[in-house]
Amino acid sequence: MKELMCFGAHADDIEFGCMGTVIKHLKDGWSARFVILTNGENGFKMGRVSPEERVRIRKEEQLEVGRRLGVEEIIFLDYPDGFLEYREDMRRRIAGILKQRRPQKVFSFDPANREYDNLNLFHRDHRVAAEVVFDACFAAKNLWMYPGEAHRVEEIYFFGSHKPDCFIDIGDVIDSKLELLACHKSQFPDFSKVEKFVRKKMSKIHDAYEFSEGFRVLRVEQMT
Ligand SMILES: [Zn+2]
Repeated sequence: MKELMCFGAHADDIEFGCMGTVIKHLKDGWSARFVILTNGENGFKMGRVSPEERVRIRKEEQLEVGRRLGVEEIIFLDYPDGFLEYREDMRRRIAGILKQRRPQKVFSFDPANREYDNLNLFHRDHRVAAEVVFDACFAAKNLWMYPGEAHRVEEIYFFGSHKPDCFIDIGDVIDSKLELLACHKSQFPDFSKVEKFVRKKMSKIHDAYEFSEGFRVLRVEQMT
C-alpha cells in the first residue's frame, strides 16, 4: 500500500496547501494520514466562544474533511495555536509517528522559505512546523536517535514553497479541494471570498494549467 502523510500546523493548512494533489493520490490508490500540530484554538472566526469549544469545533471540522476524503487517520498533537515552539518532544513525537506509520511521501511547509513577505504564509507556527517535520524525517531514518525501526521517507513535497519545481494539474479536482476547505466553517465567515482567492491563486501557479498546486520536491536518497 502506498501511504502519504500530510503535516499542517493548523486544521485547514493541508486543504490550502496540497489538497488537490492529495485527492489525486487517493484516486490513484494511495492512503493518507494527516498530522495537525496545534489545537487551532486561536484561529476561530465565528463568534466568541470558550477555548475548549473552539478546539472542539476545529477538530470536528478537520475530522469531517477526513471522513469525506476517506483518510486512514488524523493525529492531533494539540500544541497551543500561535505559540508553536521548536521542541525536542515535538520532533520525537513526529519521528515516532513516521517510524510507526512509515509513509513513502510526506507533504509539509517549506523550511527553505525565508522571504517573510506574507503574514499568513510566514506565520510562526508554519515556520516551526516546517523545520520540525524536516528534522523528524531525518531522525526517522536513523535507527538510534529514537525508538523504533528506521524509516526513510522517499519524497517530501513542500507546499507553499517560494521555489516550486513540481507542478500538479488540479483542474479536475479543484471543486473537491474547495468543498473540503469549506468544511472549516469556523475559519470562513464568507467562503465565497476564500473560493475566489484560492481559484485565483491556483490559476497563477503555472501557465500550462488552469489550476495547479506547486511543490518543492526533496527526494531522499538512500546512501547505504
Ligand atoms: Zn496555518
